[in-house]
Amino acid sequence: MAERNVTVGVLSYQGSVEEHLYMLEQIPGVRAIPVKTLPALEQIDGLILPGGESTTISKLLKLFHLHEPIRERIQRGMPVWGTCAGLILLAKEIVGEEPHFGVMDITVRRNAYGTQLDSFRQDVVVPEFSPDPIPLTFIRAPWIEKVNSDSVQVLCELNGHIVAAKERNMLVTSYHPELNDDLTTHRYFVEMCRNANWK
Ligand code: GLN
Repeated sequence: MAERNVTVGVLSYQGSVEEHLYMLEQIPGVRAIPVKTLPALEQIDGLILPGGESTTISKLLKLFHLHEPIRERIQRGMPVWGTCAGLILLAKEIVGEEPHFGVMDITVRRNAYGTQLDSFRQDVVVPEFSPDPIPLTFIRAPWIEKVNSDSVQVLCELNGHIVAAKERNMLVTSYHPELNDDLTTHRYFVEMCRNANWK
């Protein structure tokens, strides 16, 4: 049987938008579209919140009136994947700051690894995604300080800090899978979109 075609959106105000679209376009059966306004949001089966600057993206979400429509869809079960700044946007708690969407039961620390100069890349096995190591790229990355509910599944810990997790329809990675040529995590998210039944 042919796999279900899906439309996956990438929130496209700021950050690594083109990189995510490019990765998605390589997966058969996927239509990848930038999302900036409601008509685009209405077409999608799932949404990627890219890395960038969480405070900037959050302001633009309100300016373009997408904050509430996206929050409502996430709560209705739309698959969402937050990478880096996108993870920060989803967290219910941010150390020292007010939350943005505030939908995922995690506490996040921004810029936890230090400055741009402390960015790094490491090959790591994330069993939920693949038995083979995948490249994880951290750029002024947050980490997940703690998970606050049994419904949050920890997917990857690196040096004692949680860097990937999942809660129902919400996937978060504190690193940038779109900056390497490895499609593993994008394929995993596309499967979440194919299997979801929220519309
Ligand atoms: N430091 C950024 C923030 O706090 C996140 C960095 C990134 O997305 N690469 O929003």
